[in-house]
Amino acid sequence: MVGKVLAFCETRNGELRQVSFEAISAAKKLSNGGEVVAAILGTNVSNFIETLYHYGADRVVTVENEVLNQYTTDAYQQALLQVIEDEKPDGFIMGHTAIGKDVSPRIAAKIQAGLISDIVNIEANGEKVVCTRPIYSGKAFEKKKFTDGFQFITIRPNNIKQLEKDESRTGTASSLDVEIKNIRTVIKEVVQKTAGKVDLSEAKIIVAGGRGVKGEEGFELLQSLADLLGGAVGASRGACDSGYCDYSLQIGQTGKVVTPDLYFAFGISGAIQHIAGMSNSKVIVAVNKDPEAPIFDIADYGIVGDLFEVIPLLKEEIKQNLA
Ligand code: FAD
Repeated sequence: MVGKVLAFCETRNGELRQVSFEAISAAKKLSNGGEVVAAILGTNVSNFIETLYHYGADRVVTVENEVLNQYTTDAYQQALLQVIEDEKPDGFIMGHTAIGKDVSPRIAAKIQAGLISDIVNIEANGEKVVCTRPIYSGKAFEKKKFTDGFQFITIRPNNIKQLEKDESRTGTASSLDVEIKNIRTVIKEVVQKTAGKVDLSEAKIIVAGGRGVKGEEGFELLQSLADLLGGAVGASRGACDSGYCDYSLQIGQTGKVVTPDLYFAFGISGAIQHIAGMSNSKVIVAVNKDPEAPIFDIADYGIVGDLFEVIPLLKEEIKQNLA
């Protein structure tokens, strides 16, 4: 496909999310030499224009509107539809994030476009665009392509490599006024959950614990290892159900889907519902007392042992190597 591709760029807590750069990179492939237009919504978003050029956007469309500071389905759907109507792109890419999962099917239905969601790879070669997405909870992959028409894709965070930052890159920018009405939800309060220091869905290193971690204190031990490595703490549902940690840390079929470079599974048995959320991690290290635990079937490195003995040894080794 050669043409104009729109990449939706998300922000969180006043910062661009990494998936925004990945969306620009995917849009570059899809456009195959055409134009990549980054779209960004909220207030003071023009502060991000230069950064978006550096990561590959040819053009940036800003939509400044107070209503778009907090995500609501109605407001984002209306704003993005108006950007699409104004730009008339040939394709649209957004992250398969909480926002992307919510709004993308609605937009696809409104503009009567096909949607390939949750892709982990995109190969574009001239007219042919092939998208790879996991199916059966990550047990297999399918390859899909559009026959013709508008190409709408959501990308799983942490899979498509962002372009190298190049501060010499520049572009053009424009702003669009949008009309937003009939918002059917009212945000009364935003309660920030335990959110760790590093965002779980974008973390390069995850230190996850299961029921074997045995309690909140065990999770503090995991956090100390994550802090040493600059990673984030995650959990199995077993650990969340037992009250050892907050549900916002849950990884798996009904939790977050993660793809870090390095995933530690401490005291996690490896149920299929957990594996669905982490099996695409690049390197998996499992520590479990039970040599028959299914987690070892997918682990690259396995340690049969007590996590309370292994973690202090690991920390000691890492500290020595960092010194
Ligand atoms: P357990 O299965 O109890 O395993 C604990 C492990 O810790 C054991 O392997 C044990 O050998 C080991 N262990 C104990 N002590 C130590 C020690 N000192 N050192 C080292 N190892 C030790 N689960 C998810 O994780 N995510 C989901 O999104 C999810 N969604 C689900 C959706 C549905 C519809 C259903 C039915 C289930 C879902 N589950 C999910 C639950 C899933 O089936 C498992 O029950 C859960 O993953 C088990 O968690 P666990 O491995 O921590 O606990």
